[in-house]
Amino acid sequence: MSESPSLPSNPELVYYPAPVLREQCREVTQFDDELRVFCDKMLEGMERWKGVGLAAPQVGVALRIFVTNHTGGGEDTTPDRRVWINPKITLSGPSNDYEEGCLSIPGIYAKVERPSVAEVTWQDVTGLEHSARFDSMAGEFLAVVIQHEYDHLDGILFLDHVSPTHLALQRRKLKDMEKAYRKEFGSAGTVLRR
Ligand SMILES: [Zn+2]
Repeated sequence: MSESPSLPSNPELVYYPAPVLREQCREVTQFDDELRVFCDKMLEGMERWKGVGLAAPQVGVALRIFVTNHTGGGEDTTPDRRVWINPKITLSGPSNDYEEGCLSIPGIYAKVERPSVAEVTWQDVTGLEHSARFDSMAGEFLAVVIQHEYDHLDGILFLDHVSPTHLALQRRKLKDMEKAYRKEFGSAGTVLRR
């Protein structure tokens, strides 16, 4: 019997230090209407919360799905909404750094160094496989966005790539988030070591 995760009909953003953000997400095996509706809700959420990307664990679902709109939600940009299911990424090329932030860790931004080239294969909502190559040094910002979102599927946060010295500067904001989480859920969550 295959496992059928129940997908929220009204996904809500979860914040650091929610343990789901540290889970190893499972592959999607059922390409059905429920999945399609969920992906649409994720795209809507990403736009409502003004992100360039959103991964399923960020709405409490530990499945290998993320959505992107790397052009941003501004009025003078053309949206480029994409859904990535069961992605596999091969990284290469020289490293490049960009300032990153995350909807689940509001108010914190830091420079993260990542390889410039990302070759990715993924499935769409119908299960059809696709592949593409993006190079941040050629101006393809999607190369950065998909690495950030892909990390979420393995329970990795962008702050994990930040040096302890730089992380120390964010200590108070992280502490505040940890305090708020404990107050709301009565448990510590999965806090970052620093
Ligand atoms: Zn993120």
